[in-house]
Amino acid sequence: METKTQAQKNYGGLDLFRMAAALLVAAIHTSPLASVNSSADFFFTRVLARISVPFFFMVTGHFVLSAVFFQMNSGTSRLKKHLLRLSVLYAASILLYLPLGIYAGHYKNLTPGNALRMLIFDGTFYHLWYFPACILGMSIIYVLSRFLNLRDVTFISALLYILGLFGDSYFGLTEKVPAMSAMYNAMFRLFSYTRNGLFLAPLFLVLGIWAGHSFTSLSDTDFLDNGPAVLKSAAPGKNRPALSLPPSLRDAVFLLLSFCAMTAEAFTLRFFKLQRHDSMYFFLAPTAFFLYRCLLSVPRSSRKALRTASTWIYILHPAFIVVIRGAARLLHLTNLLVNNSLLHYLAVVCLSTAAGLVMAHLSNQLAKKIVLPGNMPLCLSKKTFFGENIAICPGTERAWIELNINALEHNVRFLQSRLPVGCRLMPAVKADAYGHGAVPIAKELSRLGIRDFCVACAAEGIRLRQAGIKGQILILGYTHPSQFPLLHRYRLTQTVVDYPYAEKLWHSGLKLHVHIAVDTGMHRLGIRCESPEQIAAVYQMKNLSTDGIFTHLSACDSPAPECRAFTQKQIQAFYQVTETLRKNGCRCRGFHLLSSYGILNYPEAAEDYVRPGIALYGVSGGEKMPFGDSLQPVLSLKARVASLRTLQPGESAGYGLDYIAAQETRIAVLAIGYADGLPRELSSRGGNVLINGKKAPIIGRICMDQTLIDISGLSRISQGDIAVIIGASGTQEITAAELAGQCSTITNEILSRLGARLNRILFW
Ligand SMILES: *Cc1c(COP(=O)(O)O)cnc(C)c1O
Repeated sequence: METKTQAQKNYGGLDLFRMAAALLVAAIHTSPLASVNSSADFFFTRVLARISVPFFFMVTGHFVLSAVFFQMNSGTSRLKKHLLRLSVLYAASILLYLPLGIYAGHYKNLTPGNALRMLIFDGTFYHLWYFPACILGMSIIYVLSRFLNLRDVTFISALLYILGLFGDSYFGLTEKVPAMSAMYNAMFRLFSYTRNGLFLAPLFLVLGIWAGHSFTSLSDTDFLDNGPAVLKSAAPGKNRPALSLPPSLRDAVFLLLSFCAMTAEAFTLRFFKLQRHDSMYFFLAPTAFFLYRCLLSVPRSSRKALRTASTWIYILHPAFIVVIRGAARLLHLTNLLVNNSLLHYLAVVCLSTAAGLVMAHLSNQLAKKIVLPGNMPLCLSKKTFFGENIAICPGTERAWIELNINALEHNVRFLQSRLPVGCRLMPAVKADAYGHGAVPIAKELSRLGIRDFCVACAAEGIRLRQAGIKGQILILGYTHPSQFPLLHRYRLTQTVVDYPYAEKLWHSGLKLHVHIAVDTGMHRLGIRCESPEQIAAVYQMKNLSTDGIFTHLSACDSPAPECRAFTQKQIQAFYQVTETLRKNGCRCRGFHLLSSYGILNYPEAAEDYVRPGIALYGVSGGEKMPFGDSLQPVLSLKARVASLRTLQPGESAGYGLDYIAAQETRIAVLAIGYADGLPRELSSRGGNVLINGKKAPIIGRICMDQTLIDISGLSRISQGDIAVIIGASGTQEITAAELAGQCSTITNEILSRLGARLNRILFW
């Protein structure tokens, strides 16, 4: 029933409560406080314990039906598997309770109609109604999901629940209206209660999806495991404390409030004798919802044994009630074990729990036998070395990145000066802001008045939100449908990458912000510009707020005539699409076409936004960038000398005898390697570093964490000295473009690969 990812998550709170819920169901069937006080018993069994079955439905909704809405294809197969499993359990339970049912006279007047009614709605033994209810409820939700989105399905489920309420706890009111009373009485010929798969189950199944939303698939912490600590050399400690209630506390408060309301509701209905049955209350829905969210925030790992045990307690406890009654009669202990309701309940609890745990153990043994070897657990979380609370004095690390914030500001102002008024910069801070560190860069950009950002994926967007970045964050790439709830939760704007994807976004029913990508010739992402009707259809999707529409120019960096002609064609194609949309009455807004080279080469196509990346970081991609000289590089890469030594002629250094000293050679070991993002081929391509304002060649093969340099000509270099890999030292400078040229790649690749292991230091 669970996927691997989910099995490792912290669902311990749910598993624990499953046990409690199973024991509460047993309480409903034994009325433990009946011999103490009837109001207390009512509270315990008809109010508190009424949370348990809805809770079970919610678990199913969360783990099985979420997939139907958010994962489409795999969701259906998961649903089928679960339905099969439920049917098998139901069939087995029917057989198990057949003798008891016959003994109790349940099947005396068994007509085919009666049998069907029992099988589908009431259950063949009193507690077994749960299985057909779950199967029926899931089937209803599944069928609805084929035509409607989650919001609409929720609405219908809520209506069904309200309909059910008036045949359950509120039937006293219904009876007063003759037409209603007649209608419900007709329904009661089909089923004994409205507490079944038609009226009760759908709402809680759907609530399980909503409650589980933010917790499905990868949790936030899995996303955010490698955030760098930002050490500011100026203005330290600007972190604001959060003033609002933490979400789990808020959920707990809501749980308490709704449960109090539900208790008041139940006692009022009881006082006025309105209840025909007492399974359904208005406030049961919020109570169950907030309880579920509270349980999800319990930081305990999952316990499969408890899950299995609770199922068996649910199935077996009525049998133990019979066993205890029989045994008590035989042993003449009826007064003690049956008439004392509390002892009776405890006996049932003990026997059922013991049986449940035995069954869990047995099924675990069975599972062990069929586990395939090599079934290694997936390791999802990665501990970071630079946690927020590890204090490292700026500049004392082995290697680091320095960010010149004045240069960043200069670049922002320069780009803005090239753009028409009203055109907003929407900087690309994807790939950790091209290796610069997305959080510090986005924070500084915000300070400079930037309100819109582009990232590549949801995880990057969430990280920015958690760092307190406000404004619009556009995800330029694909997000798996199971993560749509995260888009909603973190107010991230999703790119519509093609038309089928738009349908998935629509199908989620979530209120989401999107920008439509239009494919005008790059043929990477976007709805083709040849299909404006598909683009128009996205504007019709009610749950999607289409805040923008854009295209990406694939050859705007090149001055070659054919590239210029192609770019012009792309730009025209985009305007044609927006024109067509406008003619058809689409209220489209938020246009953008230009990345860095587009801004510099085609400023006339600047619309509502532009998406500069590399230009903002002040890195010109070689000679090709016009005005490249007007930009200032933001990033420098530095590393310390870890050790010094002198090689005798003929001695080798580094891996693979790649370097052999021709004469006596003084070398230094720098504490930076390819794991930090230094390209490994650099040493064989004539790479240098700067130390004390002088060039020193890289020698041997670059290692994962160390790099060797030849410092023979240089004097006075000692351990701990700083070498510059990218940036200036004295009158010398090594640019990212130079490095990229040596490695036959572009600056974007060099920069974006600079590792998560490096700290960022900001200076002004
Ligand atoms: C990365 C990216 C950008 C930024 O590109 P630069 O060339 O670095 O300015 C803009 N738009 C899209 C769609 C991108 O993927």
